[in-house]
Amino acid sequence: MDELRRNCTVDQTLNLIMRLLFLNASFIGIFLLLGLGNISLAQKNIKPVSVEPGVSLELATYRRSVINNIKYSLGFDISAEKSKAINAAVSISFDLNPITQDLQLDFKQNSDHIKSIVVNDRKVKVDLKEEHLLIDQQNLKSGKNEIDIDFVAGDASLNRNNDYLYALFVPDRARTVFPCFDQPDLKANFLLTLQVPADWKVLANAVKKDSIVNNQRTTYHFANSDKLPTYLFSFTAGKYSDIKKTAGNRPAEFLHRETDSAKIKLSVDSIFIAHQNAISFLENWTGIKFPFQKVGFVAIPDFQFGGMEHPGEVQYKASGLFLDNGATKDQLIARSNLISHETAHMWFGDMVTMEWFNDVWMKEVFANFMADKVTEKMMGSETFNLKFLLDHYPAAYGVDRTQGANPIRQQLSNLQGAGSLYGNIIYHKAPIMMRQLELLMGKENFQKGIREYLKKYAYGNATWNDLIAILSKYSKVNLYDWNKVWVNQPGRPVFEDQVNYSGGKIKDFTITQHPETGAKRIWPQAFQVTLIYADHSKVVPVNMDNEKVVLKEALGLAKPAFILFNADGMGYGLFPADKNSINQLYDLESPLQRASAYITAYENMLAGRYFKPNELLNLFEKGLLLEKSEMNLRLLTGYIGTVYWEFLSPSVRQNTVNELEQNLWNALQSQTLANNKKILFKAYQDISLSPSAKKDLYNIWQKQQPPTGVKLTEDDYTSLALTIALKSDTVTSVLKQQQARITNVDRKERLAFLMPALSLNVAERDAFFNSLKDRKNRQKESSVVTALAYLNHPLRQNTSVKYLSESLGLVEEIQKTGDVFFPQSWLAAIFGNYQSEEAYQIVKAFLANHPNYNPKLKDKILQSTDNLFRAQNLVNVK
Ligand SMILES: [Zn+2]
Repeated sequence: MDELRRNCTVDQTLNLIMRLLFLNASFIGIFLLLGLGNISLAQKNIKPVSVEPGVSLELATYRRSVINNIKYSLGFDISAEKSKAINAAVSISFDLNPITQDLQLDFKQNSDHIKSIVVNDRKVKVDLKEEHLLIDQQNLKSGKNEIDIDFVAGDASLNRNNDYLYALFVPDRARTVFPCFDQPDLKANFLLTLQVPADWKVLANAVKKDSIVNNQRTTYHFANSDKLPTYLFSFTAGKYSDIKKTAGNRPAEFLHRETDSAKIKLSVDSIFIAHQNAISFLENWTGIKFPFQKVGFVAIPDFQFGGMEHPGEVQYKASGLFLDNGATKDQLIARSNLISHETAHMWFGDMVTMEWFNDVWMKEVFANFMADKVTEKMMGSETFNLKFLLDHYPAAYGVDRTQGANPIRQQLSNLQGAGSLYGNIIYHKAPIMMRQLELLMGKENFQKGIREYLKKYAYGNATWNDLIAILSKYSKVNLYDWNKVWVNQPGRPVFEDQVNYSGGKIKDFTITQHPETGAKRIWPQAFQVTLIYADHSKVVPVNMDNEKVVLKEALGLAKPAFILFNADGMGYGLFPADKNSINQLYDLESPLQRASAYITAYENMLAGRYFKPNELLNLFEKGLLLEKSEMNLRLLTGYIGTVYWEFLSPSVRQNTVNELEQNLWNALQSQTLANNKKILFKAYQDISLSPSAKKDLYNIWQKQQPPTGVKLTEDDYTSLALTIALKSDTVTSVLKQQQARITNVDRKERLAFLMPALSLNVAERDAFFNSLKDRKNRQKESSVVTALAYLNHPLRQNTSVKYLSESLGLVEEIQKTGDVFFPQSWLAAIFGNYQSEEAYQIVKAFLANHPNYNPKLKDKILQSTDNLFRAQNLVNVK
């Protein structure tokens, strides 16, 4: 799966959220390596597994040792009416070793959902305890067993909408829908039957075998699926348009609900081609043919992630796939990157699956890593290195620099906590770690190791330790030591330099590293230092394999104008900045070097080194005119927005805004590339506060006349309308008018959902917030997150600060009931833009009052309030 932020294209405020997800962030890691138990223990020595909510590691380990060869035959009878219960039936057949305790089937519903249970042809009584159906051992036998259950499906994870639904079970939601063995290492074949309204289309993991129409209803029978863990079993059904083409010479099917003919015309071919490119690349790189029976995918309006990798039925957020001619290069690249990510999962995650969700990061790191390789092939290594730096480093630092930082590999004792493992460390630090590992081993050896791993564990499960054991065979370096600091512990190093000159030449040049927090350790890694002279530059490679390294190659060289640390952007940590670079930063020819310098400057500002917030703002403002790289301009404007809203006090902001608006507007006029103009326009929209800017924005929206050279799409106008509503102080009909302009029913509905969060009437906003306490109003997570960001925008914080305490109080429930990214996106949307002491005290009080709070969720809170904590020291610093 892929996190939300990739496809946040709709609202300006989503930029805000993206920044939060990117730029905020940590914790003391628990690095218990939980080896799965030895399954050869005689059964009689095994004490009964306790019956407790969720799926404990103990239960999973036990079941893995006694259950084999699982097949589910599943039928769902789905009505068009979303409130009508879904009647369902399942037959579970499996082989069982001799057991001496009752067998636990997972089913997280009330017992009134179960209509009947038949175990090996004998009808038995329903015994539902702590989210488990207990099957009496007396009714089971060693060898083949079959359990038949008629039930009413739990439908929260079926995501029912008016005209469609979709099953999304990762990481442990299958058990909320149907009785099953819900753990990743009990793979099974699924034989699915769906009964749906006759005008609905369906898509599932396996190919459709046949369909029978009867009385306005169609029954679809699917073929037996490939072997899948429960979290990858999925289907969708509803009023969709259906497109059949090929991808990678395979037939491929695509369901969608888009109605905008321009978007359809400009997107569909590209979507299929991107799948084809990704499949070809991965077949080539892994040496293994596409591992599943078919290619199929669906675009879902307002989907809660960027994408989810169910084989045969990959789910994508529709707005990430359908782009029109107003799309920026960044959005186009993000789309192909997203498709490559989900496609890479077919090999990494779907074919070879982690044994337990503590290793969920492995499938994500490879999906990102492989997607990056596809992108590299498409765009060339120079652009790719820049994209890699911008995609991963700020986001990884955003967590790793905080008090809530988590290691890449975490412990997980019960699957019900699996959602809390997801975050920017696994999506962004892990690819950085993997690239350093590839560098360490050499590309060829690395590929050989991965190929062996895929072959050995195909259609089965593996752990990170299994992979490290294989990679170690191909590596000269001790990977176990390396693994300890990069994978099993959180945090990043701080680098310091010591340079002495004598007679205009470098006499000493040493670099040291130490951990930003925590116990002494070193991060072995490679990066470059570049010495910049008036007419040339000199690259000095650094192999930072120790606490202190002398740059021998630099000794005796002439004193440079300035020194650029981590010039190739490969190094990970907080690097020194050379303040002599300030006036010449924009003269650097390489966009990669400039980007690395911007990131270093920003990270140092947060650390209280080299730059104060207003100094950094001044430095970055100069770049608005001078920075011509689209990707870099996006980074700079993002940083400017963050500093402006989070690290300038409201009064300083007021004194700054006129000049900043003017600089952005001038840059917009002066820059020539359409995408750059658009980025600058979006930044202008984000920071604007003056009456004249507001008037300009209103006119642009009202007349739908963007500044010359800027292309705005319907989504851009929606975003603009939301900004106008947020910033205007008169009653506004803007949102209603915008809603009338939108024809697509899903997008209309989305805007309708957001409207009360932007109301001028405080009571209406309060009511909206209060409504979120009810789970059913939080179903559209992606819209909820957008609404929360508007609700807690700095301009509304006087009235929204009162939500903070309750927002924190809801996090535990959100983690239990929502999808995996929701706790972090909930927190980021709410806390991302607070800087006040009042907000800070609320967070501190909450943590103090909950000393035994779930440690993973506490980390999430510390991650998303990191900027708020830092703001206490950084705001108003003169
Ligand atoms: Zn993924």
